[in-house]
Amino acid sequence: METTAAFTGLECVDCGATADADAESHRCPDCGGILDPSYDYDAVDLDHDVLGARPFDSLWRYEELLPFSRESAVTMDEGATPLVECPTLADELGVGRLLIKDEGRNPTGTFKDRGQTVAVTAADGHGASEVALASAGNAGQAAAAYAGRAGMESHVYVPSRSGFTNKAMINVHGGDMNVVGGRIGEAVAAFEEGLAEHDDWYSLQTFATPYRHEGKKTMFYEIAEQLEWESPDVISYPTGGGVGLVGMYKAAREFERLGLTDAVPSFYAAQASGCAPIVDAFEDGRDVHEPVEHPDTICGGIEIPDPGASPWILEAIRESDGGAVATDDPEILEAAIAVAKREGLEMAPTCAAAVSGLFELADRGAFDGDETVVAVNTGTGNKEADVLRSHLMSKGV
Ligand SMILES: *Cc1c(COP(=O)(O)O)cnc(C)c1O
Ligand SMILES: [Zn+2]
Repeated sequence: METTAAFTGLECVDCGATADADAESHRCPDCGGILDPSYDYDAVDLDHDVLGARPFDSLWRYEELLPFSRESAVTMDEGATPLVECPTLADELGVGRLLIKDEGRNPTGTFKDRGQTVAVTAADGHGASEVALASAGNAGQAAAAYAGRAGMESHVYVPSRSGFTNKAMINVHGGDMNVVGGRIGEAVAAFEEGLAEHDDWYSLQTFATPYRHEGKKTMFYEIAEQLEWESPDVISYPTGGGVGLVGMYKAAREFERLGLTDAVPSFYAAQASGCAPIVDAFEDGRDVHEPVEHPDTICGGIEIPDPGASPWILEAIRESDGGAVATDDPEILEAAIAVAKREGLEMAPTCAAAVSGLFELADRGAFDGDETVVAVNTGTGNKEADVLRSHLMSKGV
């Protein structure tokens, strides 16, 4: 594999064991825990001028802080998304600035592309010719796209309630789509059966590969750079498995350590009340979640009842002095419609949990009026226009 100079290998977040990135491709060989890419930060030579002089053209512009070189990447120039000022909603929330990081402008319409560009590059480096994963839909679509580009076959397991666009585009990208009756849990079980039967499948599953959170961490690098090297005060993130949240928390600490920023923002995990294991654990003061027995929300992307990385997510929100907040589906749909109506940006329902959570925090008096707040719009609204439109119908519009 063509690794970058400062990349030193993989470290287990559970037991601290270290592993060679050529030899190990997935979970910790000692304890089965999550592996995290590590770096020799003293060997990273980046400052504001060096980064500022580069075109804002792809997440691979931060290659010194990624495991693989841009040259070797399976990429479609994902990332480099805009951070859009939303003054009307900032007033309504009662904060100084509200900005939306618009991840809908990625190649397949969601930030899942950031995870897949790095994970599929790793699969390519390990010589894989077939990749596989279970997904609520967006990760599956992204994986099919990147696998296609790399000349690999992809096996994607999605629940029957996954959206039409996801299913259609998995087919269009040439993926082998397996629609599984039920919800994400059933899709994961079917995927695991498939994986057990095929030695040559390379898993792209959340946190099974060490590289999805590594790709998603670049959202924070971009936000900091777009705010002229100021960390925002608050980042609200629609949280399912927490891949993006732990990635951004890692990135915020990396930038602080490298002297590129001087603070770490407060991270808030926004969830839907129908499936809020992180919020429940946070409120109860627990270090690990309890699986949700009957998850039920229209926010498919964050309907993750058993997020395996919950200790890491909870650490990120506590250490950063953030929090966790859940809102109901109708409020989340209203938030998506408010953003579209008042600011023009199109958010899928899942993503709007980040904005709805901010309104709930404002109601609780969490803001003092001058904060810079970022909400991550993880995916484009037009993938789920039908869900948004039918909410209007339910109100007689
Ligand atoms: C996957 C997904 C999420 C949740 O992402 P995690 O980083 O795993 O918490 C949020 N929004 C959308 C649109 C998604 O597809
Ligand atoms: Zn371990």
